[in-house]
Amino acid sequence: MMVLTKKMIEIRSILQTIGQSNTLTLPSIVVIGSQSSGKSSVLEAIVGHEFLPKGSNMVTRRPIELTLVNTPDAHAEYGEFPALGLGKITDFSHIQRTLTELNLAVPDSQCVSDDPIQLTISSPHVPDLSLIDLPGYIQVVGHDQPAELKQKISDLCDKYIQAPNVILAISAADVDLANSTALRASRRVDPRGERTIGVVTKMDLVDPIRGASILNDRKYPLRLGYVGVVSRVPPHSATLWKKGSVNISSAITKNENTYFSAHPLEYGPDAGVNVGTRTLRKKLMQVLEQTMAASLQGTSTAIQQELEEATYEFKVQYNDRPLSAESYLAESLDAFKHSFKEFAESFGRPEAREMLKDELDQKVLDLLAARYWNKPVTSLSPAPVEPDSLADLPNADPDSLYWHRKLDASTSALTKIGVGRLATTAISNALQAHVDRLVEQSTFASHPFARHAITEAASGILNDRFYSTSDQVENCIKPYKFEIDVEEPEWARGRENIAGVLKNELKAVEDATKMLEKDVGGRRRLRDVMTFVEKCRKGEITVEGDGETGAGGFSRELLQKGKEASFLSERAALIRMRIAAVKSKPCASMKNKYYCPEVFLDVVSTKLTSTAVLFLNVELLSEFFYAFPRELDVRLGRGLSKDEVERFAKEDPKIKAHLEVIRRKELLELVLSKMQGLRDINVQEKTRRSRE
Ligand code: GDP
Repeated sequence: MMVLTKKMIEIRSILQTIGQSNTLTLPSIVVIGSQSSGKSSVLEAIVGHEFLPKGSNMVTRRPIELTLVNTPDAHAEYGEFPALGLGKITDFSHIQRTLTELNLAVPDSQCVSDDPIQLTISSPHVPDLSLIDLPGYIQVVGHDQPAELKQKISDLCDKYIQAPNVILAISAADVDLANSTALRASRRVDPRGERTIGVVTKMDLVDPIRGASILNDRKYPLRLGYVGVVSRVPPHSATLWKKGSVNISSAITKNENTYFSAHPLEYGPDAGVNVGTRTLRKKLMQVLEQTMAASLQGTSTAIQQELEEATYEFKVQYNDRPLSAESYLAESLDAFKHSFKEFAESFGRPEAREMLKDELDQKVLDLLAARYWNKPVTSLSPAPVEPDSLADLPNADPDSLYWHRKLDASTSALTKIGVGRLATTAISNALQAHVDRLVEQSTFASHPFARHAITEAASGILNDRFYSTSDQVENCIKPYKFEIDVEEPEWARGRENIAGVLKNELKAVEDATKMLEKDVGGRRRLRDVMTFVEKCRKGEITVEGDGETGAGGFSRELLQKGKEASFLSERAALIRMRIAAVKSKPCASMKNKYYCPEVFLDVVSTKLTSTAVLFLNVELLSEFFYAFPRELDVRLGRGLSKDEVERFAKEDPKIKAHLEVIRRKELLELVLSKMQGLRDINVQEKTRRSRE
C-alpha cells in the first residue's frame, strides 16, 4: 500500500518543479504550533536526526517543504536541497547549518517569507511523507522584533493550512488546550476537525491522569484524533544526537515506551488513547495516503486542464516546433559556422590585398607629407604651378644626388615601417571585426556567454599566430629593403593608382573644409576668418595673447576653425598640384622617378602588399579559416556540460519561454502518465482486497 504514497510524493515533487499552484499539487501535512511547543522535536523524532534550525532569534522564517523518502534497501541517510544543487548531504548538522543560513537570509524587516525551502531526506528509517514546517506562532512580540511579526506568521500559516492539506497541530501538554494557538488556527479553517491531527507533546510533564484526559479531549474533538508523545531526546542519547550522524528515533521510542508503559492504566492498550512517536508516524502515513488518494482525481483533472493550456500555447505561439537547449545550440552553431564559411569564401587574397594596400597608401601619403610636401611648394617646383600650365611642372634634375637620396630615404622608410606587423594587425583586426559582425547578425547576438566564447575563440587563434606570421611576412619583404626593380607596366599601374589615392585624399580634404564651412555658418564667414588668420600669420595684424580669448571680433573657437581651414586649403592646393604632376607627361616614364616620388612609392607599396598577402594568406587566413570552426566546436559544442547548454539557451528570453512551455508540457504529460499508473495500482489493490 505504501508504494502508493511513495509514488504520490514523487508526483508531488514533480509538480513542485512545475510551479506553485494550489490546484496543481497533492496534499501535504502542514505542521503548526507555538514556539517551544515541541514542534521541531516531533519532526526530528520522525526523521531521527536533529536538523532543524535552533536558536532564540526566530530562526524559522521560511516554510520548509520536507519530503521524506523511504529507501528500504539503502544504508545511507542523506538530505538534498534540490534548488541549491549541493548534492547529497550525509552530515545532518550541515543540513541544519544550511537551513539556518537560508532562514536568516530573510531580512529582519521582512520578518517571514512565503518562499519555501525544499528539502528531501532519504533514509531507510523514515516513512514516505511530505511535510511542511512553518514558523512557530508567537504569543508576544519581543522588543527587538517588528510589531507585525505575529500577524505575518499567522497569515503565512493560514495560507498553508487550507484544504486539502492535513494539519498537524502541535500543543504542549503542560499548556491548557484551550490556549493552543495551533488548535485555534486549525479550527478556523477546519471547524469540524476533519483534517487535523492533534499532537500533544511533553506528555512526561503532566500527571498521567491529566495527560490521558487531554488525549481524550471531548471539547475539541478531532476526527483523526490526538496522539501524545514524549519526543524530547533522552538525556543519555543527547551527545549522540548532537553529533547529528547517529539515528536517534529508536532511542526516543524506547524512552517513550518506558514512560507510557509505566502508566498502563492511563496509556495502555485498553485506555483508548494514542501515544508514541511510532503511532504518530503510522497515523501520518495512513492519513497522508488517504488524503492524497482522495485528491488524486481532482489534481489529475487540474493537470489535464493545465496540459491542454500548455499544448495550446505550444501550438499557437510556437507552431508545435520542437526545441531543446541542445538542438537550439546545435542549430545556432551550424548557422553561425555556415555564415562564417560564406565569409571565408568571400575573403581571400584579393580582399586582403585591397585592405593592406589601403593601409600602405596612407603610410605613403604620410611619408610624402613628411619628406616632400613639407617644403614650400617651390622646392619641388621652381616655377609657380597653374593647373593649365602643365608644361611648367617641376623638373628635378635626374642626376642630382639630392633627389636620389631623398627618394632612396623615402623608399627605405616605407620598407622599414614594419610591414610584417602592420599587415598582420590589419588582417587580424579585419577578421576579428568580421567575426563580431557575424555574431551580431546571428542568434548568438542575444547570448552574452556565446558572444564571449566566440570572440575569445577568434582572438585566441589570431593571437597565437600573430608573432610567427608577422615575422614571416617581414622576412619575405626583406629583399625590398635593399633593391627594388621596377618594370614599365608596374610604373604605369602605380601612376594610375596614386592618382586615385591623391584624388580620394583631395576629396577628404574638401569634405573636411565643407564641414568647417557648415560649422562656422557659411563659406563667406569661413573665408573672413581665414583672411584674418592669414593676416595675423603674416604679421600684418598683431593679436595679444595668441587670440586665446578671441580676436578681431572672432571667438577663440572660430579662430581655431579658421586655422584648420587655412591648413586644409594649403593641403588641397598641394594635392591638386601633385595630381597634376602625376598626370603630367614626364611622370609617364619611370626615367623621371625622382620628381614623381608618389608613383615610385606606390609601386613599392604594391610590391610590399603582394608579397605580404602571399604569406598572410597561408600563415593567417587559411589557418584561421581552418581552425576557427573547430575551436567553436570545442568552446560551444562538445566542451559544454548539460547545465551550461541549458543556461546558454535560456539567456534568450524568447528561447527560455519556448523551452519552458515544452518542459511544462513534458512534465505534465509525465505526471499524468504516472497518475494513470497509480489509478491502475489502486484498482488492482481494491480487487485484491475484495477477493480476500
Ligand atoms: P519548538 O520551538 O516548537 O520547535 O520546540 P522545540 O522542539 O525546540 O522544544 C522546545 C523545548 O521543549 C526544548 O527544550 C525541548 O527539549 C523541550 N521538549 C520538546 N519535547 C519535549 C517533551 O516531549 N518532553 C519534555 N520534557 N520536553 C520537551
